[in-house]
Amino acid sequence: MLEDSGSISGICAEIKPPEYDLDSKIPEPDLKSLEKDCFEALKHENNTHSICLVCDSIIRKSEEKSFKMKELPIKKMEQVLKPEKLPIAIYKCYDLSYLNAKFENMLLSVKGYHSQSKTFTICVNCYTSLKGSSKHPPKFSIANGTWFFLI
Ligand SMILES: [Zn+2]
Repeated sequence: MLEDSGSISGICAEIKPPEYDLDSKIPEPDLKSLEKDCFEALKHENNTHSICLVCDSIIRKSEEKSFKMKELPIKKMEQVLKPEKLPIAIYKCYDLSYLNAKFENMLLSVKGYHSQSKTFTICVNCYTSLKGSSKHPPKFSIANGTWFFLI
């Protein structure tokens, strides 16, 4: 029931603001320790994962296959990884033709190439598909429509 003052009797409790110690300082972060933790995390990440050249997915090191240029199933790749009539911008996003002219118009993940070792990584699923008799691109390959780019 409303009292004359307009407040609802018995419902509102007194709310006290939390007490802060305004004189205490926020502790300084241990930058050396943070740097070390970040470095270890990145090192761990790099050692356990890589990216598939064909489907642009993160793959575990244990599930990848690593190839030199001459070891790639290049004829099959030329047959199934060159979709036609896409906007030029998409081809540019997935272009590794500067490494080899056979890669021209082929949609490949630039992160699947490792410049230091000059090797390419391909996941087991994509490799199995490329080694098979199918005339279609691997199911989750960039060439099968999993490409994207920012406008
Ligand atoms: Zn793959």
